[in-house]
Amino acid sequence: MDSAQRIALQTADQTATGRAKQARNDRGLPDDAALRDLAATYLQTQHRLWGDLASTSVLPAIDDESVHKLADDFKRRFLAATTDPFEFGESRVRSFREIGCEYLRYSCDNSNPRSLPQQLQLGLERARHDNVFIPWEYVFADAAVTGTFAARRGYQMAKSLIRCEGSHVSRLYIDEIGRASRDAIEALKLGKLIDACRKRLIGVSDGFDSQATHSKLMLHMFAMLHEWFVDQLQCKVRRGMADAFGQGRNIFAAAFGYRLVPTTDDVGDPIIDSNGKQLMKRIIDDDTAVWVRKAFELLIERLWSPEQIARYFAENNVGGSSAWCRGRIVQLLKRELYVGFEFYGKTFQVHDSETGKKTVKHRPRHEWKRREVPHLRIISDESWQKKEDRLKELSSAFRRGNSNQPNRTTVYPKKLFRPVCAHCGKELRLGRAGKYASYCCDNGAHRKHGCPLTTYKAVNIVESGLLGVIQEKVFTDEFLRSLITRANRFLILEAKKPKADVGPLKKSLQKLTAKRDRLMKLIERDTEGNLEALAALVGQLERQVREKRKQLEAMQKLSGSPPRPMCLENVSALLQDLRGLLQEEVSVAAPILREMTGPIRVRQGTRTSRKGTAWIAEFQVNMVPVLAHLSAKRDCPTTDMWEYLSSRKWTIPEKVEVKIDHIPQYEAYADEAIRLHHKGNSIKTIAAALRTDWRTVVEAIRFGTTGERPKKRVPSTMSRKPLRRLTAAETEEVARLRDEQNWSFKQIAKKLNCTPTTAAIAYDRTHREQLHESVEQGRTPQRGRFSPLGPKVFHKIRAGIQAGWSTPRIAKFAGCGLSTVRRERARLNTNCESSKGRVD
Ligand SMILES: [Zn+2]
Repeated sequence: MDSAQRIALQTADQTATGRAKQARNDRGLPDDAALRDLAATYLQTQHRLWGDLASTSVLPAIDDESVHKLADDFKRRFLAATTDPFEFGESRVRSFREIGCEYLRYSCDNSNPRSLPQQLQLGLERARHDNVFIPWEYVFADAAVTGTFAARRGYQMAKSLIRCEGSHVSRLYIDEIGRASRDAIEALKLGKLIDACRKRLIGVSDGFDSQATHSKLMLHMFAMLHEWFVDQLQCKVRRGMADAFGQGRNIFAAAFGYRLVPTTDDVGDPIIDSNGKQLMKRIIDDDTAVWVRKAFELLIERLWSPEQIARYFAENNVGGSSAWCRGRIVQLLKRELYVGFEFYGKTFQVHDSETGKKTVKHRPRHEWKRREVPHLRIISDESWQKKEDRLKELSSAFRRGNSNQPNRTTVYPKKLFRPVCAHCGKELRLGRAGKYASYCCDNGAHRKHGCPLTTYKAVNIVESGLLGVIQEKVFTDEFLRSLITRANRFLILEAKKPKADVGPLKKSLQKLTAKRDRLMKLIERDTEGNLEALAALVGQLERQVREKRKQLEAMQKLSGSPPRPMCLENVSALLQDLRGLLQEEVSVAAPILREMTGPIRVRQGTRTSRKGTAWIAEFQVNMVPVLAHLSAKRDCPTTDMWEYLSSRKWTIPEKVEVKIDHIPQYEAYADEAIRLHHKGNSIKTIAAALRTDWRTVVEAIRFGTTGERPKKRVPSTMSRKPLRRLTAAETEEVARLRDEQNWSFKQIAKKLNCTPTTAAIAYDRTHREQLHESVEQGRTPQRGRFSPLGPKVFHKIRAGIQAGWSTPRIAKFAGCGLSTVRRERARLNTNCESSKGRVD
């Protein structure tokens, strides 16, 4: 065969289980030491058997170099799944009659009757006996791979070589049929292949020869026996595992949150099992158990999705793994072991005998075996139940076609509110996401079904509008006081109501039970009468009794005396909690807001400005369930009352309507600007106090006094250097230079490469309180002091003034002009007065 004509053997397993193979391309490859062992065995045996070939290139000399070379060749061929054609070499010695190949396999260390070198040696010896030469290129092996499926690299390579025409191979040697396959059908297929290719299959240990008279019969027998053997083995293993589970022994690897530790007896000696290994037991691993609790908390308290939790776990490298995914988190959340029991046999695996692919299938529940392991509990029953409810809610939200169930936006809120269109009832969707997210009605935006809500509204405008009205109207002591007054009134009325009389109901129940009991006795005594009719009657009575009992329970619950009225102090703390809740993540705050406001219905208002149309939002505030929830969390004494009110669906219809619109700055600032203006502040000072620019202040004052809206600003055509915004560190530097070094803003501006105005604005930012104080008094804000004379001179002047010296004396002492001293004296006086005024 020409060496250019390489036998490129694409093995079946590569195509069939592409992904699995990509992950582990070396599956079945013996490790390096085993390969060298195998190569050495090959060389020694062949040299012994084929002495005349020893000097040719067909059989290299026995030394370390050749052993390494053969081992490397094997590895390369195995990984590439190709077989190099066997070269006869220049000598062209044909001392052998035919060329053969050999296949070796063992499945695992525990069931290893014959190692790979042993199998090889036996095969080579038998081949020599047949005068067949097996070159190293045609030795195939799979290590630690089960024979129950066909997708083994070495096996497929051997089959491909058999199939390949012109390979000169005439025989395949195996130790026994079971080495080639433990699957009966695959063994028969191999027999067919050998026949079809007119080759010969030789079993060295079991004496199989495909050219023998009864070979077909033998093959069927062997194949059947091997499969039966595997079945027996699997059955035994399964029974052993189930027994061990029943006896409380540890048969699982430690799940996440646990670890295995060796057991010792009272004296401290290790406890040994029947296999001579030290027994292991599972204990809670504190390091990872924390994360189990965290996963539950994130799901039920913070309403995170499993995907989110997986990302968080991966980022934190939880348990040393960064490969957390949704599936793993869901598996973790469903593990019953965390609440102190476990199952055995929930699933079973189905193997594809062709590809070796395993599929996990679920067993029916009645086949599961259960055992209690209370010492392994990590999660409380309450959290477990909450988790179950949440997972149920999530799965129903993502199921198709039921509009009454909670949907995706309610189970995973991304926005604080999700208003509905008042015109068509459709929930608003995000017409635009990201930084400029905005709501719109799907129908209105596409002019469908005549919905008039055609405009979009930015999410931040809607949120600030709604939050504003909630803060202003609902989260106030006043609102709460009126709520409590009305609630107390309701409670007093409830207390005065005549209690429902449960007497007659009780009596009729007693009668029914007595009748039923009499019948039961009759049945017991009389064994010959019409029992069937009597039994039916008893069943009917039993149903009636159950119904009456339910009625009675409901009545007793309702007639319970209402809790005592409460006062404002009990509830103020709850208001504080409520405010705190709004600062929480959206996923936590949104459900509470939804419960409080109910559906927020939005309709289109009138066109208000060039910029757009206002929306009118309308909702009904119901604080009772939210307060019940919060007070229960706090263990507050008012919990009973809120729950009582909540169970009676008591609410006060507090309808809130709010106009949601973009408010331009000049409109928002109008009142405040006019107020400060009346105090005699300059436009520039007001702008600094309101943190805006002077133009807006002018527009605000004009709008406030005349109602005139500003015209659209025309951008200046003059190219202007953009204003530089100072960083936080630079802002601090401005304040330091001004206050400590008494620099002028001009000097500071030069140093920081900005304008003096920018420097002054930066100074104001660090002295906001001082600025507001002077603005309230209508004074020009004091922005530190600058003098070319320097701080020392002023220090001397102040010392002189305090000592009560005359102005000329101070001027002479400090080395400055008389007017400087007078100005400083005047400044000190006004400061004293203003500080006095403040004290009063
Ligand atoms: Zn609509």
